[in-house]
Amino acid sequence: MSGTVRSVLALGSNLGVSSDTLVLAVADLVEPDDVRLHAVSPVVRTKPVGGPEQPDYLNMVIEVETDLGPYELLAHCQAVEEKYHRKRIVRWGPRTLDIDIITYGSLVSDDEVLTIPHPRAASRAFVLQPWAWMDAGARLAGRPVAELAAEAEDLAGLVPFEGV
Ligand code: AMP
Repeated sequence: MSGTVRSVLALGSNLGVSSDTLVLAVADLVEPDDVRLHAVSPVVRTKPVGGPEQPDYLNMVIEVETDLGPYELLAHCQAVEEKYHRKRIVRWGPRTLDIDIITYGSLVSDDEVLTIPHPRAASRAFVLQPWAWMDAGARLAGRPVAELAAEAEDLAGLVPFEGV
């Protein structure tokens, strides 16, 4: 896939001042000329899904328009994660910043580096609900994202973020 592509990115944080981290990370993600902001979701507060006992998360999604290839976009997202000193100490554990590529155009990829659409996105309200609020017509795996969100088990633990 080449040329300009729309991609949905999901951001999450539950360590540090998460609301600041998300705002700064979005600015960093769209700082290069070849990654342009197309849409931004509301921020939601969510209960952690699995993993050890840990603080609530703040989550949001953005849609970008990019000239980067999918692996270049992944490297860019990982560089932004690193900037916020993400430490991956415990799998599913708390993190200052997590950025996942949810979709990249219509690309389907399943290799050891990149799985697109993101394998858990279709069942996670913390991705689906903000995405549906951002883009009421969004579809994933042939289904409306809003419908998938309504069915997600973690929807009950999600509330709009009202600020700190
Ligand atoms: P995580 O702990 O969730 O940040 O996972 C990071 C790892 O997931 C990296 O090694 C990535 O190569 C891999 N990965 C596979 N698919 C994706 C995706 N769609 N978005 C982000 N990371 C991905």
